[in-house]
Order: sequence, then C-alpha cells, then structure tokens
Amino acid sequence: MSEPKLEDIVSLAKRRGFIFPGSDVYGGLSGTWDYGPLGVQLKRNIMQLWWKMFVDDRDDMLGVDAAIIMNPKVWKASGHVDTFTDPLTECTNCGARHRVDKLPDFIERGTFDAQSVCPTCGKKGVLSEPRQFNMMFKTNVGPVDDENSLAYLRPETAQGIFTNFKNVVDTSYPDVPFGIAQQGKAFRNEISPRDFVFRSREFEQMEIEYFVHPEQWETAFEEWVKRIHEWCKALGLPDDMVHELEVPEADRAHYSKRTVDFEFDFPIGREELLGLAYRTDFDLMNIQNASGKSMEYRPKDGSAPFVPHVIEPSFGVERAIMAVLTAAYTEDEVNGEKRVFLKLPYDLAPIKVAVCPLAKNKPELVAKAREVYDMLRKEFGQVLWVDSGNIGKNYRKMDEIGVPYVVTVDFDTLEGEQKDTVTVRHRDTTEQERVEITNLVPTLNRP
Ligand code: ATP
Repeated sequence: MSEPKLEDIVSLAKRRGFIFPGSDVYGGLSGTWDYGPLGVQLKRNIMQLWWKMFVDDRDDMLGVDAAIIMNPKVWKASGHVDTFTDPLTECTNCGARHRVDKLPDFIERGTFDAQSVCPTCGKKGVLSEPRQFNMMFKTNVGPVDDENSLAYLRPETAQGIFTNFKNVVDTSYPDVPFGIAQQGKAFRNEISPRDFVFRSREFEQMEIEYFVHPEQWETAFEEWVKRIHEWCKALGLPDDMVHELEVPEADRAHYSKRTVDFEFDFPIGREELLGLAYRTDFDLMNIQNASGKSMEYRPKDGSAPFVPHVIEPSFGVERAIMAVLTAAYTEDEVNGEKRVFLKLPYDLAPIKVAVCPLAKNKPELVAKAREVYDMLRKEFGQVLWVDSGNIGKNYRKMDEIGVPYVVTVDFDTLEGEQKDTVTVRHRDTTEQERVEITNLVPTLNRP
C-alpha cells in the first residue's frame, strides 16, 4: 500500500464533509478552514481524548479556559511583542511575500543574490533583503482605535496558563509537580499559510504547563517524552512515522533551554507535529518582574519557597487531525475492487455505527430498523441511517468516513431461525457476523 498524497486527504476531507476552505462561498480566506459535520466530530473526539488522557485520568492536572484577548502587557512581558517574528522577503517584481527560512536559495546560501528566484513569478534577483515580521494579529479593544486600545489575539494558549498560575495555586493548592492544561484557539499571521490545515492562521492548541521544582526538570521532561508517545499511539500513528528531533539552541524559541520536536511523516514530508519545551522559570519570572506580584510557590511541608520551572508539551489540533487522517487513510482491494477507507481508532471515529434497512419500501423492515437505530442512538450518540443504494455501496461510503460498524436489518431479522438478529459488518476486515439485537450494544461498544 502506498502512502496517501496530500491531494487524497484534502479531497476526501472536502468530499465527505470533514474540512472546507474557510469562507468557501466567497472564494476562501487564506489560512482559515471550516469544519463540516464529520470534521467537527473528529476534532472534538481528538480534543476530548486529550483532555481525558492528560487531565481526567491524572491526579496532578488542573484545567483552565482563559480569554483569547489578553492585556497587551502579557505579550510584552512574554517577549512576543519583540521577538515573535519570522523573517520576510518581498518580491519586487510580483509583490509576493515569502518566509525567508523556507526558501531553498536562502537555506543553501544564507543570503539572496542575483541568482535567487521568486517562487511565485520565477524571476531572478527580485527578492528584497529579509526583514522581521511580527506574527501576532492586532485588534483594538473598545470604541477608540488608538495606541492605548491596542490588543492582540493570542498566538499561543500558554500565556493564559501562566497568567493564572497564582489564581490556580491560591484556589486549588496543588502539590508541585502539577500541571495546568488548556485547549483553545490561537492565531498567527503566518507569512505563507500552506499545506492544508498544517500551517493555518487560526488554529487550535492543547497545551500543558507542568510546574516542577527546578532540580526536577530533567526527570519530568523524560516522563513527558513517554506520555507523548502514548498519545501518538492513541491517535493511531504508527511508531515508525513519529520521530523525535532534538532542536539545536540556535533554532529554539527565545524561552526554551531544551526542545524536542515530535515530527511526523506527513504527506508533505517529515514535519513538526507537536513540541516539548523546557521553558525554565522564564515566564513566571517575567510576570513577577512586570506585575510586581510574587510567583513563588510555598510547599506545604514548610520547605523553602521557589519559583517553579516549567515543562511544556504543546499540541496542535490541526496537525493532529492531519496526522490522524494520514495514518488512517488506507487503500485495499475487496472482491477485486479498490476500496478507500479510514482506519480510525474507535475513540476518534466521528460516527461509530450506521444502520441500514435492507429494503426501504417494506414498512415492517423499516420499523424494525428504526427500533434498532433508536436503541443505538441512545448509546452511541450520532448513528447514521442509511437506506439508499445497494448494500455494497453503503459499505463503501461508510468505510470512507471511517464508521467502524454497519448494522443491517434484513428479512431474517423479522422471522425464522435468525429472528431478532442483525448483520454487523466490520470496517477493517469487512467480516460480517450475525448478532442478536439484545447483544448489539456490548458488541459495538469497543473493537
Ligand atoms: P512551526 O515551526 O511549524 O512554525 P512552531 O515551532 O512555531 O511551529 P509552536 O510555537 O511550538 O510551533 O506551537 C506548538 C504547536 O502548535 C505546533 O507543534 C503545532 O502543532 C501547532 N501550530 C503552531 N503553528 C501552527 C499553525 N500556523 N497552524 C497549525 N498549527 C500550528
């Protein structure tokens, strides 16, 4: 089986209602994407699984949900106003703007010269000297549009955690080490959004700041490396497609003393899926200095107070979705015909089960199928009702959106030896089994 191409994923995502270009009806808006009925479900499943694994199932984690627009002092103190930049070059011929560190010419020679080519118009010697471009989106708070009302859309969720560190400690009294988790939108005015949702201007992050005693950071870091691999497994990502990259000092973010990027073999190549950074006490100290409020933590056993250091696992939802779709996209052959299916882990599948009455013009059969459908809906939330086309076509459609089970209600369900049984067809193996209706829920509950 060959690896899927980006076009395969983008086309399936649009065709089946997972992800559409943002503002599609008006020709789109670069770097924005909208989630359709299946996409929103997949995205929620990923975010809920994350919350379950990293918050609900642990006793050292707490959650917050901070505002997206924060006091601009936050971004001054965090260093984002001064250093959250990417190097930009502009083509003097066609006006296209490019991120310098992604241009092969610049990567090879470290500069632009008469031979450097603009990737958009193809002309040589037209790229301007690089300048730094700040990626934060600006807005104004309140009716007056001036310097004093300037604010930013958050470029990361992390700062909403740091600014609430004291509030959480003073209200929940956690023992160090402990973590604070947050999920939510982040905005970056990327110079060149590209590669489907991989580099978007509006996206979603799931971040944890894990607060430790300064002497404990290395142990905690190694522990998080393991937890991240468990997460990748839960997403159904094969081990050999996930890679750790120790980021050299020159390439690390301004706040990090150690960073490991977890890369994935996306259809666009090996790229960052998520990051793990040791942020030291950089952020809490900046807040302490800028606000004048102590960020010291006082251990309950009376030992010396300290400003905790931080390990930050930072997950991007869009990149997780892209990795999940890449890993799940499978082609095989059934009865001599090519089949495309999404081998999604059960927890992530947007729809767990579909119900098909074998014939839609037989009221008795349809009524029985409705009974089964209503029963399953109570248990599994969204259940698809599929009464069109032939059964083989229905299976293909359900395979393409990753439905793990299709239940068919047929004439044998109504009478005879197999009365009150239905056919359950399994997505991955295409195997079918006969199951009593009373046994359906436990059969379908897990793989
Ligand atoms: P890159 O080097 O690819 O620009 P980054 O190192 O700037 O990414 P971080 O600041 O570490 O990214 O952000 C944490 C995570 O947020 C990333 O690993 C990624 O999953 C996600 N992320 C960051 N920028 C984007 C974006 N523009 N679109 C989608 N996801 C993003």
